Amino acid sequence: MKLNNSIIYQFTGNPFVDAGIWAICGWVEKGKPEELNKEDLKRIAKDITPLYLTSAWSKSIYSIFPNNPITNPSVKDKESRLKEFLNNLIEEVEPINDSGNCISCGRRDVKVIRTKTEIPLIGSGGLINYFPFGQPGADYCPSCTLAVQFSPLVMYSCVKLLLLHSNSGKVMRLWSKDAIQDIRRQILMKDFTGCFDENYKNPRNALFHIIQNIITKYDERWQDEKPSISLYHFTNFIQGPDLNVYNLPTPVFRFIAYLKQHPKYADWKRILKRGYVYVDWNKVKDEEEYKNKINQVYDNLLNGISITRFFIDHKEKTAYGDWDLLSYYLKEVRMMEKKRLETLKRVGDELSEYIKNTQNIKRLNQLEQAKKYETLRNILRLIEKDRVKKSSNKALFTLDEFVTDLFPDGYLGWKETQDLLIFRVYENLHDWLVEQKELLSELIVEEEVMEEKNND
Ligand SMILES: [Zn+2]
Repeated sequence: MKLNNSIIYQFTGNPFVDAGIWAICGWVEKGKPEELNKEDLKRIAKDITPLYLTSAWSKSIYSIFPNNPITNPSVKDKESRLKEFLNNLIEEVEPINDSGNCISCGRRDVKVIRTKTEIPLIGSGGLINYFPFGQPGADYCPSCTLAVQFSPLVMYSCVKLLLLHSNSGKVMRLWSKDAIQDIRRQILMKDFTGCFDENYKNPRNALFHIIQNIITKYDERWQDEKPSISLYHFTNFIQGPDLNVYNLPTPVFRFIAYLKQHPKYADWKRILKRGYVYVDWNKVKDEEEYKNKINQVYDNLLNGISITRFFIDHKEKTAYGDWDLLSYYLKEVRMMEKKRLETLKRVGDELSEYIKNTQNIKRLNQLEQAKKYETLRNILRLIEKDRVKKSSNKALFTLDEFVTDLFPDGYLGWKETQDLLIFRVYENLHDWLVEQKELLSELIVEEEVMEEKNND
């Protein structure tokens, strides 16, 4: 491949280096790493030197680059030490080549082995077990090492620190823009608080907050993006470097992007609220009181677990969102086939019609209360028997639909199917069900009876 030999930076795939590259782009207001030149590097180095020396920033820097001269109280000439360090690196910056032994870019050669004072989480000194042959540091070229020095500008404070990494230039560009906007505010107000801090302490909630914020704030064609996004929650403290990685699945990103223009977006916000655990909503006055609590919707989305149960409220007989929104989630995130979705919707509609026509709220109650796969199957069978008795001309479902569409995973996925059928019933019958409130309140759970009848 022929290279334009003036290019200094391109994506490397290394989260710290890439964050630094995007921090430079954000600082000098350039849209692409390829546009950066040496003048830009000199400019950012000059600008951030006084920033890093403020006490708030040197505290942040302390957990990123331990033993750094600027965080060491015994070092007197901190400013000149930092300037000298950055300027020396800038002197050594080279355009990218065809190859090289830098473990980050692979396109330039290493001059000096770097330690964790210069590159976070690589371990060094007493922590050399990460390296083959006990090498006392890691192979980073001067250009990559320099970029890493600017990465704190786009880090996010969350007890430890968060570093966002994505292959989407759009996501990284807008994220660094937001983080740097906060720093410009700090400089303008002379109110230095260190890395971007919005008082998040729960990294998973912070990840969703950051992504939702970027999507809602910036009018981009998010639906066309297929980014992979990772969040590194880390500290490089000498006493205990630590790292957790959270990956936002691409389909989840696309689902969040889709929600933005959906007419039922307000319902999605309600679904999110229902995901928080241990929150007394009667006492909550503002978001600060719950935003760091565990959110099961977020956690399930990160862990590939279904969130369908948050779309339905048994007590209020309410479906949040509509079938259109829910089926997008099922298709995009749960990878459900179109035919399966159509069957589920049709069976949900037939069940709604049956419940309303027969006024058989008891059956709905049993559907809601079923706690076992066998119980749910049995209720559906009883409904079918009753429909045949009342001479319904069409079966609720064929055997094929039962096996491939309703319960394709048998014991494993039956709960999700139960949620989806109930969702559709609530969506169709909510107003009517609310009118039947008295009937509803008289019902008792008949789970035991249902199981006994299982073999009749
Ligand atoms: Zn490199």
